[in-house]
Amino acid sequence: MKYVTGARCVKCGRRYDAVPDLTTCECGGILDIEYDYELIRHDVNKDALSERRLCSMWRYREFLPVEDDTPEPPLRVGWSPLYDSARLCGELGLKKLYVKDDGLNPTASLKDRASSMAVAKACEAGQDTIACSSTGNAASSLAGNAAAAGLKTYIFVPERAPKGKVAQLLTFGARVISVQGNYEETFELSKAAIDEYGWYNRNAAINPYLSEGKKTVALEIMEQLGWEVPDFIAISVGDGCTIAGLWKGLKDLKGASFIDRLPRLISVQAAGCYPINRAVRDNTPIEPMEENTIADSIAVGVPRNPDKAMAAIRESDGITVEVTDREIMEAQSLLGVTAGVFGEPAGVTGTAGVKKLCNEGVLDKNCTVVSVVTGNGLKDVDNAIRFAGEPIKCMNDLEELKGKLFGGDR
Ligand SMILES: *Cc1c(COP(=O)(O)O)cnc(C)c1O
Ligand SMILES: [Zn+2]
Repeated sequence: MKYVTGARCVKCGRRYDAVPDLTTCECGGILDIEYDYELIRHDVNKDALSERRLCSMWRYREFLPVEDDTPEPPLRVGWSPLYDSARLCGELGLKKLYVKDDGLNPTASLKDRASSMAVAKACEAGQDTIACSSTGNAASSLAGNAAAAGLKTYIFVPERAPKGKVAQLLTFGARVISVQGNYEETFELSKAAIDEYGWYNRNAAINPYLSEGKKTVALEIMEQLGWEVPDFIAISVGDGCTIAGLWKGLKDLKGASFIDRLPRLISVQAAGCYPINRAVRDNTPIEPMEENTIADSIAVGVPRNPDKAMAAIRESDGITVEVTDREIMEAQSLLGVTAGVFGEPAGVTGTAGVKKLCNEGVLDKNCTVVSVVTGNGLKDVDNAIRFAGEPIKCMNDLEELKGKLFGGDR
């Protein structure tokens, strides 16, 4: 790998060679992939990037930890739209709010960025089977990206995973194990099975390449903004791998001098499950918490990647905020009505956090904010329907319709 210099433990600093099946440090710490920024800068610049026709996360090849001859996985992941939503800004009273709709990825969540990387690295490692545990989206995205590449998958999901996600898994031909227990137990069983059978591990907190896939969301946001750095980027947080990946992407861009400053992160968690935000605010170690929220994708009571996530929030001088299930569903509706964007509950949690911070006056009206929608609303229609209300029931009769629409006197 031309641009990768190695991997470093975020806890003890020990360095490793970047082999394809790299996992955690001997000390248990999570590894971070390091690059030769000079060389990247020498080989590619913003103008060269903007001319590339490849509209996927793989357009940032120099920033990604793969061999030169590793083929791009077949599904088209990334290069999701960044909407400048004037109407949403108006609602929130912000000068500029952009919405990055990552629910438009092939399996409908940001997790596709990590899964595309997992498929590329499994191929480099010569593995034909990948496994993971997930609250749903990591699983469905792995199943889809692996199916397209002809790899087998074993997927461990907690029993409460919503039906839309399980339907995706089964349709993509994964072997699905529905663990009768919570996410913690699901993770434990997947880990034991991976150790037993030697499958390629797509558990994001263990495999350091996956956050390198997720970081492409930051590279895209910056390129789509013409490299104008926003004041804040808001995102929902569960395990913490996504916010850590986002931050890594921003730091890599700064390291290679594509941007000259860094935005502040807004870490948004559910009021019913916020172990990372609590630890950051109280400056205490992570304590397990109940998983009590409608936003199943971020209902993570024992986060697997708190170190990197907490470092990202702190280094960025970030803001932590929690939102209730009601605030989450109000944000789902707000995004739908003002921007035409349909996000799943965890997908819109970042936007719910922005709304709350605007209402509380924490965010200055004049700042520029990017809110990442991390998953598509079609993943969980049951909850959406419960909050969105009923359609107007009407027979095939125009008079009846008139009465119902405009409240005539029938
Ligand atoms: C996984 C996920 C998140 C949070 O990512 P973490 O790495 O667990 O913090 C947020 N939103 C959606 C839709 C997700 O699937
Ligand atoms: Zn270490």
